[in-house]
Amino acid sequence: MITLTNIKKTFGHNTVLDGIDLLVKKGDVVTILGPSGSGKTTFLRCINFLEKADEGEVSIDQFTVQCQKPNRKDILILRQKTTMVFQQYNLFKHKTVIENIMEGLVIVQKLPKEEAKQRSLDVLEKVGLAEKANAYPSQLSGGQQQRVGIARALALNPEVILFDEPTSALDPELVGEVLSVIRKIAEEGITMIIVTHEMSFAREVSNHVVFMDGGKIVEQGHPEDIFLNPKEDRTKQFFKRIN
Ligand code: ADP
Repeated sequence: MITLTNIKKTFGHNTVLDGIDLLVKKGDVVTILGPSGSGKTTFLRCINFLEKADEGEVSIDQFTVQCQKPNRKDILILRQKTTMVFQQYNLFKHKTVIENIMEGLVIVQKLPKEEAKQRSLDVLEKVGLAEKANAYPSQLSGGQQQRVGIARALALNPEVILFDEPTSALDPELVGEVLSVIRKIAEEGITMIIVTHEMSFAREVSNHVVFMDGGKIVEQGHPEDIFLNPKEDRTKQFFKRIN
């Protein structure tokens, strides 16, 4: 369903992605783990061209874009199939919660306002924030703001949601509520790719774990295999260091 082939990216002399291949099936929850600086976020951003890879191919639902020479229209089509949940939520501060969610539905997807409103309320319900529809982001906790970020991604009904370290900006006591919302969405069968440092969450929520280091995928597989029986030295060392 999603095929990423030979993704390469260099910043100056720094090779950040050194030929990444990944296959994601419909309904998969893939977590990407690895040390800081290993290229996880860059890889995620290359999937929807927030970052343009130098080489490779991104294919979602049989719609294929060559990274080297994408045209603007193809990028827009690809972005309608993917939505990103950011570390820093990226909500519009001067818009209410529901306006934040409706924005993409009305402007990008051209949904009638009433329909957009109803869908926004439905997803707010799903993340447990229906009563905050008319609040402004500044009136919410970080955890609640991130749940709005997730609701906004969900409302667009994408083929895949990309999560870029969704809990790393949060105080520890707020991490749990965001992870439970992601867990709940995962159970509904929505395809997700999640960059995270939350190891126990990754182990529990994903059906496929990718371990990256130095711009390459070192090892990938079922969480139980990767966590309990890693084969590669670099994976073993990584788990040893964080435990
Ligand atoms: P990770 O998510 O695994 O921590 P990143 O993808 O954020 O890794 O970064 C990988 C490497 O790419 C780092 O060395 C980082 O400094 C570099 N990098 C990321 N974005 C840029 C950029 N826009 N310009 C230059 N270097 C960058």
